[in-house]
Amino acid sequence: MGKKRPIKVEEISKVSSQLSHVDSNELVPLPPPYDGVEGTPEWKPLTDAAKEKYEATLDDTIAVSIPRPKNKEEEDALVRKFLSGLEKLFSKENNWTFLQPLVLSMENCAKCQTCSEACHIYEMSGHNEIYRPLYRSEVLRRIYFKYFKKGGKFFGRWQHGDIDLNWATVARLIELSYRCNLCRRCAQTCPIGADNGLIAHELRKLFSQEMGIAPTELHEKGSVLQLKVGSSTGMNPEVVKDNIEFIDEDMTDMTGIKVETPWDKEGADILLIHNAGEIMAWPENPGAFAVIFEKAGISWTMSSEVVAYDGINYGLWYDDVMLAKVAIKHAEVAKKLGVKKIVLGECGHAHKALTVIADRVLTGDLNIPRESAMTTLEDIVSSGRIKFDPSRNDFPVTLHDPCNMVRLMGIVEPQRRILRQICPQFREMTPNGVNNYCCGGGSGFAIMSGHNFEDWRAQVSGRKKMEQILNAFKDEMDPSIHKYVCAPCSNCKGQIRDLIRYYDMFEKCGIIYGGLVELMVNCMEDAEPGFIQWEMH
Ligand code: SF4
Ligand code: SF4
Repeated sequence: MGKKRPIKVEEISKVSSQLSHVDSNELVPLPPPYDGVEGTPEWKPLTDAAKEKYEATLDDTIAVSIPRPKNKEEEDALVRKFLSGLEKLFSKENNWTFLQPLVLSMENCAKCQTCSEACHIYEMSGHNEIYRPLYRSEVLRRIYFKYFKKGGKFFGRWQHGDIDLNWATVARLIELSYRCNLCRRCAQTCPIGADNGLIAHELRKLFSQEMGIAPTELHEKGSVLQLKVGSSTGMNPEVVKDNIEFIDEDMTDMTGIKVETPWDKEGADILLIHNAGEIMAWPENPGAFAVIFEKAGISWTMSSEVVAYDGINYGLWYDDVMLAKVAIKHAEVAKKLGVKKIVLGECGHAHKALTVIADRVLTGDLNIPRESAMTTLEDIVSSGRIKFDPSRNDFPVTLHDPCNMVRLMGIVEPQRRILRQICPQFREMTPNGVNNYCCGGGSGFAIMSGHNFEDWRAQVSGRKKMEQILNAFKDEMDPSIHKYVCAPCSNCKGQIRDLIRYYDMFEKCGIIYGGLVELMVNCMEDAEPGFIQWEMH
C-alpha cells in the first residue's frame, strides 16, 4: 500500500496525491484475542467527494476539513495568513503565555530521537515517519529558521535544512497538528526539555486564533456553543437542572439514599463542576458524586449559571482566548457564590485548564482555590465517614491514568489509594502513573469522528491503550468474567467506550468501563447493591 518510509521533512511541500499511508500490515499487532485477522473492523476509505472537497493528502484520514483552494490566489492567501500568524506566535506581545518554552523547543533539539520511542502514535503506527514527534516540529523549525531568524534564508536552510512554504506545506501542517494527542509523553523523556507536544499545541493555536481554522467539534460545537448556550452539550440552565433532577430521583431509587443536588448555594464549601457530557452520557457519574457528597455530609453546590455547570474547556487544546473566556467565567461564578473552593469532577482536561493553565489569567480575587475530585474523594474515604464493603467490588479492575491529571499535574496516588482500599482485584496497567500512555482520545480526538477519523483513533492513536487494557486482563479474558476499566476522566472514558465498541470488547472479553465514583457507590454499605450495571452504554 503506497509509499513506504522514510519520508523526508521537505517532502511535506511536494504536491503529490498523498504524503503517507496508514498501512494495516505495518500497525503493531494487538494481543489476543485480536492477534488474528479477525477482530479489527475494516478501515473506511475516504470518499472521493471528501477528497475533492477537503485537504486529504497527508495520510488516510481527515480531522480538520480544510477546504481545497479554488485558485492560486486562495493558495497564496493561506500561506500569507500563516506567515503573519507565525510572526505573532513568536512575539512577546501576542504570545506571552507560551513564547519562552516555544522558543526553547524551537532552538534546542539534539535530534537524539529519544522522544520518538516515547510516542504511542509513532510506535503503534509501525513507525510511520510523519507521526514521529519530531517530524511536525522539524517542519516548523525549518520555517522558523528560514523566515524568522536573521540571515535565515541563507544560513537557516544550510544549518537546519530547507523547506518550501506553499499551500501543501501549510494545509498538511494543519492536519498534522491534529495527529498528536498533546499527551507530552515525548516531552517527559527529552533530555534537554524540548516539548514537541507544545509545538503541536502552538500550531493549533496559530491556526485557530490567527487563521480561523479549527475542527468544528472543538470550536463551533464546543467552545462557541458553551459560551453562548452554557454548555457544549447544548444544555441551557433549565435543561441541566431538569436533567439533574431526574438523575437525583434515579439515584435515590437505585441506592436507597435520598439525594437532592443543591443549586447556587451561597457560601457552600465546594462548587462542584462536572464535565457536562457526563450528565448526558453517563448520568450515573454525577449521580454517584451526589450520593457520596450527601452521605459524607459535604457542604457543596452546583451552579446553574451559563458555562459554570460545564467544566469543559476545549480551548486548552487549540485556542488560548477561548480557554481564558471559559476559565474566567468559572472563577467569576465561584467568587459570586462565595464558595471556599472549586472541585473539578472526573474530567482531566477540565482539571488542567482551570488549574495549571488558568493560573496565568486567574489572578487577584479570581484566584479561587481549585482542587481535584481525586483529592476530595480520598479525604472522604480516609475520614471513615462512609463505610465500604470491598467484597461488592470483587472483580478485576484496572486504572487508566488521564494524561492531563496524572503526567501533567502529578495527581497520581489519591485515586490509587481509593482503589486499593475498595477493589480487591485492582491491578495496574503497564506502564502507569506519570509514565502512562494516552487513551488515544486526548486533545479532543475523543469527540472527533468526522469522515473516517474514528478508524484512525481506534486503530492508530488508541492502539496502545487497547494493548494495555488487554494485557491488564490477559489472565481473565473469558467474557463471562466481568472486568472494569476505571477511567476518571470524561474524555478518556468516551475514547475507551469507543474502543470497546469498535473492537466489540464487551462481547468478546467482558470488559466495561466507568469512573471512580461508580466503584465507590457500588460498594457503599448503606447503598443498595448492584449500582454498576454490567452492560455497554
Ligand atoms: S528527545 Fe528532545 S532533543 Fe532528542 S530528538 Fe526529541 S526533542 Fe530533540
Ligand atoms: S505529545 Fe504525545 S502524541 Fe504528541 S508527539 Fe508527543 S508523545 Fe506523541
